[in-house]
Amino acid sequence: MSAAGRVVLVTGGASGIGRALAEAFTALGDRVAVADVDAAAAHRTAGECGGTAVTLDVTDPRSVTAGLDLVAERLGPVDVLVNNAGVVAGSGLLVELPLEVFDTVVAVNLRGTFTVTQAVAARMVADARAGSIVNISSIGARQPTAGLGHYEATKAAVDALTRTAALELAPHGIRVNGVAPGPVHTPMTAGLMEDPAAREAWEARIPLGRIATTGDIAPLVTFLASAQAGHVTGAVVQVDGGQLLV
Ligand code: NAD
Repeated sequence: MSAAGRVVLVTGGASGIGRALAEAFTALGDRVAVADVDAAAAHRTAGECGGTAVTLDVTDPRSVTAGLDLVAERLGPVDVLVNNAGVVAGSGLLVELPLEVFDTVVAVNLRGTFTVTQAVAARMVADARAGSIVNISSIGARQPTAGLGHYEATKAAVDALTRTAALELAPHGIRVNGVAPGPVHTPMTAGLMEDPAAREAWEARIPLGRIATTGDIAPLVTFLASAQAGHVTGAVVQVDGGQLLV
């Protein structure tokens, strides 16, 4: 895998952290597939950052296969996969959360990450191509917030999957790592951030005193995907302003 000019697939690449990743990899000279279930947003982001739009629903294996075929045809085989697509889908205490919300979050965050990892890694193995996978987790996997148990459970599962995938894929030269952000300014959290009391409550939990920007997250992802991280696999690294310390 060359230092640049790699084929990078970013799921959920149309918005927020995914968009910042698409911009960061493009700036490194990589060819980026902006893969998103929102076709219009994927095209908009790809157009603005110089990537290639791919409409892909991570919850649907047929859509994933079709999306990967399109990436292979347009850009070539995937060298770097970032499993970034994720949703919160709602919030609520365990005793009252509708199971539909739980099912949605599991389908996108966990089953989606599993499905895309399986499909991309199978092609890498079949082609005997080394590669790198980075899963976007959350510090919620390790630190609970009331009302987000459904979401946090999926991210803890993604961390477990990261370690197993790292172990199983290491003999094939495929590294698998995770990045676990604390709260980040993105469309996902926009509603929360507009509420001054909610925002202050989140900021009060962060020793460095501020909510992250997407620009705080992207450099660790590009590093983990790079040859400089060639001996790093199975790690899930937090970018949280110290929130896990308290
Ligand atoms: P976002 O809502 O801005 O972007 C998520 C993108 O994923 C959207 O473009 C959406 O269309 C896409 N998506 C949703 N379902 C999909 C599906 N089934 N198939 C393909 N694409 C799909 O969110 P974000 O804040 O940028 O979150 C990105 C990742 O970072 C998520 O995995 C999220 O859990 C994680 N994360 C976010 C925060 C935060 O505070 N924003 C904190 C920790 C972790």
